[in-house]
Amino acid sequence: MTEAAEPDFLQQPVTALRGVGDAVAEKLVRLGILRVADLLFHLPLRYQDRTRIYPIASLKVGQEVLVEGEIEYAEVVQRGRTMLLCYLNDGSGTLILRFFHFTSAQKYSLRKGVLLRCFGEVRQSGMKLEMAHPECHYLKADEHEPIANTLTPTYPTTEGLQQRSLRRLIDLALEHVEELPDLLPESVVKQHRFPPLAQCVRMLHTPQGNPSPTLPLSREGVRDAALSSSSPDKGRPGGVSFNLEIFSRRLIFEELLAHQLGVQQARHELKQVQAHTMPETNHYWQQLLRTLPFAPTDAQNRVIAEITTDLQQTVPMNRLVQGDVGSGKTLVAVAAALHAIANGFQVALMAPTELLAEQHYQNLVRWLEPLGVETVYISGNQTPRQRRRKVENLLLGIGHIAVGTHALFQRTVEFLQLGLIIIDEQHRFGVHQRMALREKGKQGDHYPHQLVMTATPIPRTLAMTAYGDLDYSVIDELPPGRTPITTVALNNERRDEVIERISAACREGRQVYWVCTLIEESEALQCEAAEVTAAMLHERLPHVAVGLVHGRLHGSEKESIMRQFKLGEIQLLVATTVIEVGVDVPNASLMVIENAERMGLSQLHQLRGRVGRGSVASSCVLLYQHPLGKTARKRLDAMRTTTDGFMIADIDLELRGPGEVLGTRQTGDVRLRIASLLRDQHLLPAVQTAAREVVAHYPERVEALTQRWLQQPDGETATQFFQS
Ligand code: ADP
Ligand code: MG
Repeated sequence: MTEAAEPDFLQQPVTALRGVGDAVAEKLVRLGILRVADLLFHLPLRYQDRTRIYPIASLKVGQEVLVEGEIEYAEVVQRGRTMLLCYLNDGSGTLILRFFHFTSAQKYSLRKGVLLRCFGEVRQSGMKLEMAHPECHYLKADEHEPIANTLTPTYPTTEGLQQRSLRRLIDLALEHVEELPDLLPESVVKQHRFPPLAQCVRMLHTPQGNPSPTLPLSREGVRDAALSSSSPDKGRPGGVSFNLEIFSRRLIFEELLAHQLGVQQARHELKQVQAHTMPETNHYWQQLLRTLPFAPTDAQNRVIAEITTDLQQTVPMNRLVQGDVGSGKTLVAVAAALHAIANGFQVALMAPTELLAEQHYQNLVRWLEPLGVETVYISGNQTPRQRRRKVENLLLGIGHIAVGTHALFQRTVEFLQLGLIIIDEQHRFGVHQRMALREKGKQGDHYPHQLVMTATPIPRTLAMTAYGDLDYSVIDELPPGRTPITTVALNNERRDEVIERISAACREGRQVYWVCTLIEESEALQCEAAEVTAAMLHERLPHVAVGLVHGRLHGSEKESIMRQFKLGEIQLLVATTVIEVGVDVPNASLMVIENAERMGLSQLHQLRGRVGRGSVASSCVLLYQHPLGKTARKRLDAMRTTTDGFMIADIDLELRGPGEVLGTRQTGDVRLRIASLLRDQHLLPAVQTAAREVVAHYPERVEALTQRWLQQPDGETATQFFQS
């Protein structure tokens, strides 16, 4: 192969790979993949077991499995919308295949008598079981199709890039895996008995049965690192047996090390730079307080005072404000913004989703317009034309505060005098994204102040490691007058009762969320699931106005649905976890969470935080699939017995470990690929020692390590930051 002759092939842009043109490269950038080597560190979220075919009669809801059978019958039906239903029979039972989108060619080929192999998630459909949009493979009667003999990795991906394409590219990169430079000091490798890097990377991408059992496992090693609940019966005889922990351990260590090096460097850099001091009093805030229908809590006042002190300094503020869901972080952000504006500076307020940005925008306009403070909304969905005026206003200083997602920090947006950057719901942004932002806000040799808000309740000591470059404040009090949320966990079979309850709640003028969850490998699948559920609820509750919001809708569609929900025109909002953070609709008082047993505790807590925001008593129904595993049961119990974010965080920490999925994306954690600061915190002392060793003896590896691990999805790297 000619490619192998190239010495630094791994450092080449991905377009050096066969079949990767600019269009694919652009999609890969969204995943933080720029160079060939980045593909190797794009690790699976989990694994699918396609190594055996299940009899339909043995299927259980929630399993992701392979089945084979013959189409007995196929029909196109109208149930609110057109769909194609195929009844697949394998002699043991019948499974419904449901298609919402289908071409006429598919309709023709999915007909009676056709033999199919399907892979998908089993869902309940009335009394029967179904798969919505399974992957289908046509079989010929007389041929024996081989099935996989290793687990199939599932990667985080992005719109328009299929798992299969991603797997193919990773396979190409794996041909060069031996060329990866070893960046850990030899002593560290020895001490922890890490296997060679290339072997670790290869095993995680293509897990083979029975990986070498000779290395002793650490006590934590009982963790079945990679294998999530989707592998239905682990102990089965003759199946693939796996313990990827010894391989993931090394990569977890490396990633934590890179994170640690990044944080140290950031802290060091920050002490060297200047910010504008903001000594004037915040007359806008005094004015706003007179018009607010409530007074800030003591905790809010204390945190606002801490922020004000920071803003009066000549070094940039870097403060993390942690406050449980509903503790009123927005108001604190507004106070900080007004302080900067009263001192003649502009403010950028950044939210993780368009949905939240839009909500902030509306609040700000309502609160600030009467004060003569001008808010500008910058959205990724605006046309260049729509955006130009807004951008001009910021440059001219007519706009005081700009709200948006990371679209705020595109090249075209410039400020006359940016003094403060506020990042809301921080856990979606990593340390290096934060630094890159600060860099973009730099004016002359002055850096903007930075305020970061998060609802993730993590223990203080951990926060110091996770956000080591930041100071830390806590809003440890909820506004008065909240009625506690009652939480129940119900077996999926009692769905009908839940639907009845929704009907009753809507009759009383209350509003309801129904959250559809899937393990997050693909937004597309999540959206499908939500569509299916919305159609079902629409059918079952004809008198209720049902709305649907998911990540695939355009910004303007999402906004309009959220607006209708806020106005009460939509009574029942079916949503994916896009509503997890920040959404504030006080009249919503019932939340139903599907597949609750699969979700992390902190994510459940965040979701539940969408209700209980008004004065009506709220409730949360956690629907689960029987039978519950031990950990899942404890998680649901924790949800039933407490609504205290810190207590939940502690229990979460206790319950982590065995059986946890490889990715940490779902945990509301700092964005790391494979490590989890909570789960892996026992490694931190060793990581810190290693970081000192790297800095002292291998300083040239610092950049290589941060580049390897801290590449951000928009293509920003720590390195770019450090070079400028
Ligand atoms: P979060 O901390 O989850 O971002 P929000 O800022 O969305 O919380 O606030 C939750 C709700 O509480 C909002 O409706 C907000 O207007 C209200 N709120 C904020 N501060 C107070 C307060 N001091 N007293 C009463 N209500 C408040
Ligand atoms: Mg918020």
